[in-house]
Amino acid sequence: MERRKFLKNSSLTAAGLVSATTLASCKTETKSEAAAIAAIEPIKPIVVCTWNFLNATNKAWEVLSAGGNALDAVEQGVMVEEADVTNETVGKGGRPDRDGNVTLDACIMDKDGNCGSVVYLQNIAHPVSVARKVMEETPHIILAGKGAEKFAYEQGFKKEDLFTESTRKQYEEWLKTSKYETTINIENHDTIGMLAIDANGDIAGACTTSGMAYKVGGRVGDSPIIGAGLFIDNEVGGATATGVGEEVIRTVGSFLIVELMRQGKSPQEACEEGVKRIMKKNKGRKDFQIGFLAINKNGETGGYCVHPGFTYREYSEKGHENREVISFYE
Ligand code: ASP
Repeated sequence: MERRKFLKNSSLTAAGLVSATTLASCKTETKSEAAAIAAIEPIKPIVVCTWNFLNATNKAWEVLSAGGNALDAVEQGVMVEEADVTNETVGKGGRPDRDGNVTLDACIMDKDGNCGSVVYLQNIAHPVSVARKVMEETPHIILAGKGAEKFAYEQGFKKEDLFTESTRKQYEEWLKTSKYETTINIENHDTIGMLAIDANGDIAGACTTSGMAYKVGGRVGDSPIIGAGLFIDNEVGGATATGVGEEVIRTVGSFLIVELMRQGKSPQEACEEGVKRIMKKNKGRKDFQIGFLAINKNGETGGYCVHPGFTYREYSEKGHENREVISFYE
């Protein structure tokens, strides 16, 4: 899906809501305000995800509203996008690397800090579920490439061609014009990072992507790196990222945001600081997009990005909407 579509689908009402959240969270909290926030009735269950992934949030909400746990909700939620071949940045139908290989990255993390991840996984449509198996069935956290693929077959996953007619055609066109150069773009960052709080108040998250289109073969981004593309701390909240993964890795972005929330920042303030850290390192360079999304233990959410265009979906009993992140760095 392209950014233009996200913009079209974002409602102005949602933008207003984000604006209100932002204003409320930008002031410095006094101790009594902090105590008042702590006393807020937590919003739960709730699910949020990067970008306008309607069907994914619907699925996660179906799990949560039926009393399911946050871990199952995020896994089943992001699987919807992994299976959607019209989404050319996640799972089956994701764009290949510059050598013509579709390689997928994903991770998952639960309320107890357990996590699993797969990087450079080929021929398997649901990397998030393989990541969950790594977490639950092995003593390891990350499996890569051929080893991850072999493990997936052992766990019963089937081999699939991840190319579609559309991505194959685009790749052939790219080969003609690109001179084999990987370019950083601002528009096409549609990784799905999902964070959920279940009825028990427990938090889990998942993140899955085909990574940067036409990346150098072997490249791994932030999405499957615990602490970079995703981090959960059940005492505090969770964070996830989309955009140029190299920049997120440099600041261990999602971990940073969760730690900032632990120190008292709201999700909105923490995301803003996360982006600012990245921009400081880049000394004025802005030719890339980053979108951070965070949730705290109370179910408050926030998002921030370098350039306009980032949106996130939120679903709780209060409603289901696509929120355009109207506060950004640029
Ligand atoms: N963060 C992903 C990566 O760098 C890409 C994206 O979000 O579009 O692999």
